[in-house]
Amino acid sequence: MDQAKGAPIWATKKGKYNPENTQKFDLKHTKLEVVFDWQKQQLIGTATLTLAPHFYPQTELVLDAKGMELTAVQLIGKDILRLQYEYDGRKLAIKLPKTFHRDDELMVQVQYVAKPNEIKIKGSNAIEADKGLYFVNPYEKEPFKPRQIWTQGETEANSCWFPTIDAPNVKTTQEMFITVENDLLTLSNGKLVASVKNVNGTRTDHWKQDKPHAPYLFMMAVGKYSVVRDQWRNVNVDYYVEKEYAQYAKAIFGRTPEMMEYFSKILDYPFPWDKYSQVVVRDFVSGAMENTSASVFMEQVQVDNRYLLDDNWDNIIAHELLHHWFGDLVTCESWANLPLNESFANYGEYLWQAHKYGRAEADYLWRDELQNYLAESETKQEPLIRYRYQDKEEMFDSHSYSKGCLIMHMLRNYVGDEAFFASLQQYLKKYAYKKAEIHDLRLMFEEVTGEDLNWFFDQWFMSAGHPQLAVRDSVSNQELILTVAQQQDTTYTPLYRLPLYVDIWVKGKKQRHHIDITEREQTFRFPVAATPELVLFDGETQLLGTVEHPKSPARLIYQLQHSDRLLAKLAAAEALQIRLEQDPAVKGALFAALADDQWQIRQVAADAFADYTGEDLATIADKLKNLALNDEKSLVRASAINALAGKVPPSFFVKTMNDSSYTVLANSMYAYANAGGDEPAQLFEKYENSNNLLVVKALAEFYAYAQVPNKIDWYVDKMSRKSGYELSYLFNNFGAYLLEQPEKVRKQGINYLAEIARGNPNHNTRVSAYAALQLFEGIDDLKLSIREAEKDERVLQYYRLMKE
Ligand SMILES: [Zn+2]
Repeated sequence: MDQAKGAPIWATKKGKYNPENTQKFDLKHTKLEVVFDWQKQQLIGTATLTLAPHFYPQTELVLDAKGMELTAVQLIGKDILRLQYEYDGRKLAIKLPKTFHRDDELMVQVQYVAKPNEIKIKGSNAIEADKGLYFVNPYEKEPFKPRQIWTQGETEANSCWFPTIDAPNVKTTQEMFITVENDLLTLSNGKLVASVKNVNGTRTDHWKQDKPHAPYLFMMAVGKYSVVRDQWRNVNVDYYVEKEYAQYAKAIFGRTPEMMEYFSKILDYPFPWDKYSQVVVRDFVSGAMENTSASVFMEQVQVDNRYLLDDNWDNIIAHELLHHWFGDLVTCESWANLPLNESFANYGEYLWQAHKYGRAEADYLWRDELQNYLAESETKQEPLIRYRYQDKEEMFDSHSYSKGCLIMHMLRNYVGDEAFFASLQQYLKKYAYKKAEIHDLRLMFEEVTGEDLNWFFDQWFMSAGHPQLAVRDSVSNQELILTVAQQQDTTYTPLYRLPLYVDIWVKGKKQRHHIDITEREQTFRFPVAATPELVLFDGETQLLGTVEHPKSPARLIYQLQHSDRLLAKLAAAEALQIRLEQDPAVKGALFAALADDQWQIRQVAADAFADYTGEDLATIADKLKNLALNDEKSLVRASAINALAGKVPPSFFVKTMNDSSYTVLANSMYAYANAGGDEPAQLFEKYENSNNLLVVKALAEFYAYAQVPNKIDWYVDKMSRKSGYELSYLFNNFGAYLLEQPEKVRKQGINYLAEIARGNPNHNTRVSAYAALQLFEGIDDLKLSIREAEKDERVLQYYRLMKE
């Protein structure tokens, strides 16, 4: 079909239909025996699979086995029988010696060499590569990097290191025999049941998980780790970190047992696995991964106590943990149903925030989720559950994560807390160690509530887009007249049913009204004794969508001062900012907001005064100084410092540089330099040893901006310690620094970047270095090194993706 005129791209771009994997066989047990060849970056393995036909008789077994060299394929029985097979580098089709029926069990053994670096790769947003098995610093040539091996299975990459039926609707028990040098630790799913020293100086660890899970959740990690022990009920909880971070491991991960207790209770289902380990690895391809009983985290979660004053990693920790129910225990049957994993995991973050830190903190996170989704919706609008896509990696987007989280929250608001958790509890019990699709979830909610919920699931899970509402209100004859118009284009987006609350304040008293929006345009009338001070549409602040509701400054001020919902107050404070200079009442309200009980409001108010130039600047500056020095929340102190730049002498920021928070320190450095403080380069030198990203960034930007001489060694040192997005910032600042440096220095720096772009073992690092080199495109003598980097197919592929 041709693209309709004016149709958005997402409305016409359709991928192929992606069904659930057809279950010809049930995979019952997987036994793996593996050793590693660090020099060749290969795994030598034996996989022994126990299977039975699912229903229909079978004469052929097809396994996923990507990029392997096969040495033997045999049937294990009374005798060992060599089997005939065909192998195309991705699928292994094994001819069975007879017809197997569903009561027959068979044991097939594959001996193989996995060669992860020889597999063609393809990226996605969440998981940037899919070669399954990763060797970090295999030749021990990178000075600040430990030698490690780790795996990443989701979506279908574990079949790069063992032959399996690589689909999320498969569930198998597992045991793994991992042989390593004796000074290395191993981690895998389930329990460590034995550890045996071999005569050649190696050791074989035997890990066993007798509860079935999906092949994409299999994992291994190998490296030198400090293991910090913790416990929840009688379950071992371990944190695997690099030695220097052992002292901070409990500060970072230590709320895990409390989370396990909380989730076990609200789900009425105790944490179902043998143990819970969390391991940090270098150069990870994503933020974290919920491998059953052994989650992997990116190295950026290794932080010190000072970092934790500003922020923590609770969200990502809660996310991976909640997956141990939604994802690992009950698994989406196909990638089309990925929201059954990810929407719950993101909602787990909300639930934990609300439980541990209060509703306001959770709502603040909710706002991020809405912003993530709305930002993505500008280029992409898809049904949450989508069977049509080009590539399964497309499913790992802000729809599956953020929009799904918001939908879970609306579902909870609609059915009520008791019904919401009762439905989840029964869903988990019914589908434990099995798979599910979205209809299973709907049916469970319908069973519990006794109510048809097709309308809810259809509009939110099965359709694209979101409501775009225009709300108007007026008063006539002691009646408040509220009109709501749904303005979204209903060619591609449904006309929504939206049950929600309208809060009306009259004479200082709030009254809540329930409304059910079902029409394109609808009018609601409420009796009022006087003109309301405020009409707050969506009083629970839970609607996924956009709402345009014009309000006078007086009403916004009332909203800022009287609403009990953080998000309503925040929205008011933000809307008022533009009137700060011309409206004294607005200025008074934002000034008062600098002392609000909620730190997010104090922060927005401080931000509002950043460009303020009024006559009473001295009064404002005094109040901001007080915040900068004394506010209990470091992020408020940091915002106050930003707002003070240019309002107070630079010496003030020398004082705030002594703050315990890195954010405050970094902001003070920017403010001091921008305010023209004396000798900033000299003053900042004492921070050169810090490896905190904010401080390193402040220095890197300052050195580039001020062209401070002789900093190339400092940049190189920091670049060799960082990876991922942190390294990419540094490369860019380093490039900017080199632009104005003397010819000799510039050449030296460019050669450094070019060498990384050509030869670094990590493809993301190569891409970032290559991107930084683009700054020098016009310089002739560099063309050669750039052209050499361009020969690298992976660099090119990723660079193209980045440009898109
Ligand atoms: Zn997740």
